[in-house]
Amino acid sequence: MKADAYALDLDRLLELLPRYATEGPRYTSYPTAPVWKDDYGPAEFSADLGHEDVESSDGLSLYAHVPFCESLCHFCACNRVITRDHGRAGAYLDTIEREVEAVRHAVRVPRVATQLHWGGGTPTWLAPEEMRRLFRVLTQAFPLREGAEVSIEVDPRVTTDDHVAVLAECGFNRISMGVQDFDPSVQEAIRRIQPADQTGRLVEQARKAGFESVNFDLIYGLPYQTVESFGRTLDTLFELAPDRIALYSYAHVTWVAKQQRGFERGDLPEAATKLEIMLTAIRRFLEQGYVFVGLDHFARPDDELATALVRRTLRRNFMGHTTQAGVDLLGFGPSAISELRRSYAQNTRDVPGWQEAVEDRGLATMRGHRLSRDDLERRWVISRILCHSELRAGEFEEAFGRSLRSTFAAELADLAEPAADGLVEIDEDGSLRVTPAGRLLARNLAMPFDAYLAAQRRSGERMFSKTV
Ligand code: SF4
Repeated sequence: MKADAYALDLDRLLELLPRYATEGPRYTSYPTAPVWKDDYGPAEFSADLGHEDVESSDGLSLYAHVPFCESLCHFCACNRVITRDHGRAGAYLDTIEREVEAVRHAVRVPRVATQLHWGGGTPTWLAPEEMRRLFRVLTQAFPLREGAEVSIEVDPRVTTDDHVAVLAECGFNRISMGVQDFDPSVQEAIRRIQPADQTGRLVEQARKAGFESVNFDLIYGLPYQTVESFGRTLDTLFELAPDRIALYSYAHVTWVAKQQRGFERGDLPEAATKLEIMLTAIRRFLEQGYVFVGLDHFARPDDELATALVRRTLRRNFMGHTTQAGVDLLGFGPSAISELRRSYAQNTRDVPGWQEAVEDRGLATMRGHRLSRDDLERRWVISRILCHSELRAGEFEEAFGRSLRSTFAAELADLAEPAADGLVEIDEDGSLRVTPAGRLLARNLAMPFDAYLAAQRRSGERMFSKTV
């Protein structure tokens, strides 16, 4: 596809939104997590780790979940533990060490990592020396390959110069900062006071320390946000010039995050205002030269995410869009997810439960899923739509030995309406291209290929966020 095929047509999108704004998965995995079952446990995960088709040369991604935060941000629905008791770090690191040892033991051959990411919670809740230990534990078991993508999520309010220095020394090259909104009244409402100069100072430190890429996370739809106030947040953001931006929609999920009940409905922007904030922000990112990478992500045109988009080397896993995803992903810590080539495994969510399970068995798998052939084919198709904005019939046939058109005749027929609306172009052989009008609705275009979605919808349970 030509580079301009990755543009966005926001005017057309606006016309179509009333019909396409529905709830749907984000497809960080396929099948999605609600499909996974607890009949997949440590024994199954251990067997899959030791599978004989695993080669030393296969790239590997590593993820560590640090669940602790100093204080609760009232919009947050992540798996986190709010504590100022830093004495808990020792037991956490002892458990991670045991878990890494157990996984390394189960993997048949030595593996080298092409990607390492720490998320949370707040990874910089750990002291600099504790971060050094975590890094050592992971990379002694799975050494990093030259040029690996090494990234971390940080909270500027608790990240010190010493943290940045240790991260740089370990070889971290990408840093992602939680910002959400620079407006003081929004910050007060969400209980996250983070002055712009605090964030700016951290950006400066990270650049000085040699980080190649700085990302900002923003959220629209928070209390007291208006188009004008968010416009001022964007003015500040452009001054700080991050390389990447993630623009997330606030999810009001009070049944998961009870503290959100403190937000008065009237303080939250109306649906129409929320949409206008999103579209205004996207227009301004594009005017400033950022490229829409996919889903919620924007990057400077020379950033490797943007170049990978055009080269069709962009990948997606639980850590988001990446260029260096390994064949397998190993996740450590409470709630962490591992993605092996034919299975998913998730750890127990709560810290004591995870510690106890690792203590007993080395592994803390609480649920998972082994992919069938049908799952593998559908995962391939969904990831191509989301990462490459296209599907090529010849590539599908080469990968699975079957024709794309005949395998997915019904699913392609379901795309007749989006095709008539100009969101996607479909060829005779089933090859398809997502158009500039369809790129922000890529989740809608992937949904017909999801074999589990109809039953999930029938169950009536709320599982997914709005696609736009
Ligand atoms: S937003 Fe980040 S820092 Fe705030 S509570 Fe959630 S995980 Fe912790």
